[in-house]
Amino acid sequence: MSEKKENSLGVAKKTLKYFLPIAWKLHKGYFFLGIAKTALNAVYPFISILILPLIIQELLGERDLFKMLLYVVIIVAGQGIINLATPLLNIQMEKYDERFQNYFTCEMSRRIMELDFQLTENKDALDQAEKARTGMSWYSGGVHGICTDVFNCVSEIIRLAGSVLLIALNAPFLFVITLTLTALNVLRQNKLNKIELESYQNLSKTNRIFSYLGWELHNFRYAKDIRLYGAKDMMVEKVKYYNDKQTDEWARKANATLPFEMLGNVFSAARDIATYFYLGITVITGGMTIPIFTQMLSVGGTFHNSTQSLMDNIQQLVKNTSYAYEYVKFMNYPAAIEKGDLHVKNQPHTIEFKNVSFTYPNTDVKVLDGVSITLEQGEHLSVVGLNGAGKTTFVKLLCRLYDPTDGEILLDGINIKKYDYEEYMQLFSPVFQDFKLFSFTLKENIALDSDCENSEIERLAESVGLKDKLSSLEKGAETVLFRDFDENGVEPSGGEQQKIAIARALFKKSPVVILDEPTAALDPIAEYDIYRQFDSLVGGKTAIYISHRLSSCKFCDKVAVFNDGRVAEYGTHDQLVEIKDGLYAKMFAAQAKYYN
Ligand code: ADP
Repeated sequence: MSEKKENSLGVAKKTLKYFLPIAWKLHKGYFFLGIAKTALNAVYPFISILILPLIIQELLGERDLFKMLLYVVIIVAGQGIINLATPLLNIQMEKYDERFQNYFTCEMSRRIMELDFQLTENKDALDQAEKARTGMSWYSGGVHGICTDVFNCVSEIIRLAGSVLLIALNAPFLFVITLTLTALNVLRQNKLNKIELESYQNLSKTNRIFSYLGWELHNFRYAKDIRLYGAKDMMVEKVKYYNDKQTDEWARKANATLPFEMLGNVFSAARDIATYFYLGITVITGGMTIPIFTQMLSVGGTFHNSTQSLMDNIQQLVKNTSYAYEYVKFMNYPAAIEKGDLHVKNQPHTIEFKNVSFTYPNTDVKVLDGVSITLEQGEHLSVVGLNGAGKTTFVKLLCRLYDPTDGEILLDGINIKKYDYEEYMQLFSPVFQDFKLFSFTLKENIALDSDCENSEIERLAESVGLKDKLSSLEKGAETVLFRDFDENGVEPSGGEQQKIAIARALFKKSPVVILDEPTAALDPIAEYDIYRQFDSLVGGKTAIYISHRLSSCKFCDKVAVFNDGRVAEYGTHDQLVEIKDGLYAKMFAAQAKYYN
């Protein structure tokens, strides 16, 4: 995504517009608590500002003990109630913080799972996801962090309005002193924010690599490879390297901010000197009484603190919203592929590749070059060829994981880009070579969240050759796979995992089944069983079957031989073995030797 510099107030506005309506809809109670806290906060300093001059007045004049006691009680009780209520309100509001975080984390996970597949290999999109994750949690404090800034701004504005009124009535020159020093402080704070934001941007990539390494090191599924290939030292070295990078960046940030932190104290001393000087002279020259002098001292402090605090809170709000905006940007990350809204008709489907070429993003090699193939409903196509010939890419394009660079893919004569994406995806049940099973139950791995009877799982298990395995499991279909979360979980073998993945594809009941090297991890007997049952397994569905083992081709209607991204040969098994010096005939002869 191109990085166009956006105006920070515009960013703040967009971020608030994104989060506040959602947060209000989720938990209105949070906002009522916030309003109560804002009001109490705003009132707090005025209790002593208004009452203290009255006590001094009494001390200098009538000295009525009852009146003085009453004033003291008002101050103590007023401030005491607010002091007690504020932490109680804070605790209640913090409880909502957790709920907001959970909600937005879930929404982000959902978005990650819906992200166009192509973007999962895109560095910019991955960085954006990392910025969104850290920006929304650590850096901005999430919705609670942002709303706290808003509530603080409002209570400071109310305090300012009260202070302005009192100062305007008694000591207008105080404005000049306070505003000058506040302006200087704003510039100082601006600089500090810039340094922090820059450091956050610098750390985004390092944080991403760091959490990747943390995850890889701790996930026991990698334990074998790490041990057997002695990868431990390399992993530890890498963690250390990125840890050092983080530490260096933090040190750079601390050094850069130090002078500006110190300047803050200098500004504060200058303001005190100027205020005392001005008010002192005014009293000496008879322009102000002692009670008003004390009131102006404290209201001057409140005016200064509130101006400063308002500026800080606005800057904090701008900073926090700019972090949280990374989340908004990620949630609205532009699509990588075109999507239409045409409904997929409920009819037998014809799929046609029309002169399709493809180059992976950020590479310059044509992986597919002018591929044209037509598949009628129910037809079984075997796709064969050497490693890297483009077979998997061919099915990835069909499944819309990428869009062709040239040419078009048609479903029932219409470009697949024109169809509603979700509906189109429902047409396919692929089993890719690098399929993944979840650390959930066997049933959830096959049926996901669809309703499904255990008998259906048993039927599918039988058809893919998992009947014995299933009956050996104490909890049957409810057995948890892997031991990440259940010490009684089972670790299926590679072949068993592949069979479960095939069962999942068959459960989906899509009209097109795609098996990419489905037998690679199966033993020869299981492989033979899958071949033998292939027709009954996929029924009358269209099937694309990628395999190195050419014996599979005998079970298919057509064979496409891929070579260097092109369809080098196309026909039935019997036709292709007859082509003298043909690629297929050679490959088949070479393999037949071993099978015989
Ligand atoms: P096959 O399935 O026939 O073994 P593939 O379709 O997987 O071949 O790969 C074809 C070529 O595309 C290979 O050279 C491979 O390295 C390259 N390739 C595959 N996936 C990607 C990717 N995500 N990015 C860049 N190149 C890729």
